[in-house]
Amino acid sequence: MTHDAARPEMEAVTTMTAPDPAAPAPIPVAPTPATAGGRAGYGHGALIVCDGLVRIFKVAELEVVALQGLDLLVERGEIVALVGASGSGKSTLMNILGGLDTPSAGRVTVAGHDLTRMGRHERTEYRRSVVGVIWQQTARNLLPYLSAVENVELPMILASRAERRTRALSLLDLVGLAERATHRPGELSGGEQQRVAIAVALANEPEVILADEPTGELDSATSEEIFGLLRRANGEFGTTIVVVTHDPVVARQVRRTVAIRDGRISTETLHRTELTAEGEHRAFSEEFAVLDRAGRLQLPKAHVQALGLRDRVRLRLEGDHVEIWPDRPDDEASLPPGAAGPASAGTDR
Ligand code: ADP
Ligand code: MG
Repeated sequence: MTHDAARPEMEAVTTMTAPDPAAPAPIPVAPTPATAGGRAGYGHGALIVCDGLVRIFKVAELEVVALQGLDLLVERGEIVALVGASGSGKSTLMNILGGLDTPSAGRVTVAGHDLTRMGRHERTEYRRSVVGVIWQQTARNLLPYLSAVENVELPMILASRAERRTRALSLLDLVGLAERATHRPGELSGGEQQRVAIAVALANEPEVILADEPTGELDSATSEEIFGLLRRANGEFGTTIVVVTHDPVVARQVRRTVAIRDGRISTETLHRTELTAEGEHRAFSEEFAVLDRAGRLQLPKAHVQALGLRDRVRLRLEGDHVEIWPDRPDDEASLPPGAAGPASAGTDR
């Protein structure tokens, strides 16, 4: 099998295993042992810390729990893809991270800013200079009556930056639109508008770029270009990027994909390449279940269905793993401690 570096053949490894000790430096996604004990130390050192985030929307008499105790850590300089079914809470999370909404409960800090306690002034500053936001709707990202270069200059004017025009033009150059600087959004294609939106988002050198389905309205070739620009910003400026996407190809191009289900992180997939004995680069991905700090684990639907798991499961602690069996009354007598179980869930390597 040949492996194209740009579009690697992905081999989905669906086992839920502990990280391979021989694998490259792991991305810290869980509290370190030193901090695991207390809430106060959770996520220490991470750029984005979501700790038990809850967001409840009240519509008439109805309560919608959009986020149900979401925990998420993102390290400085990471690029993370956020995936999940429609209605799973992705935009709710992005709005909170962008400082546009506040959670009903829980803690969220971004680059040292406690988003639940920010006053009005700090919030304005935060939205202006700490985060850059790109929305799916191209029209929401740009002012229609300003030219491309004026759109890029606007956040810098609000932040009283010097050298605005020069910087705006160099950002437009970065996104490949130097020649369209004087065009208004209406004179640009959807993909070009999103490129300008990236330049706008980068204007004040934010720590984080939040992009909520930035390529949702674009064809796949244009999506790849836009995504390539986000990765370039990540590589050149070290900007931390959280991008919501439906596109599995896009989601595979980052090292870490986080899946949200019913307002909580359900799985994380790490994408890596390794050098084979033949000197070829082999891309592979490995999906992990996420353990929350209370020790709760969400099993993938496929595993639950394959073994008909429900209500209760049997657990057994082995030397380096935990085995899970369905709770079947018939099995009870036939499972002496230490005996090989009827099936070992999710440990086939
Ligand atoms: P996603 O972006 O993953 O599609 P959202 O975060 O937009 O999901 O929505 C999560 C849930 O919260 C959905 O059930 C949605 O209907 C609800 N929701 C989101 N925003 C509001 C709002 N402003 N008022 C009421 N319900 C909302
Ligand atoms: Mg959404």
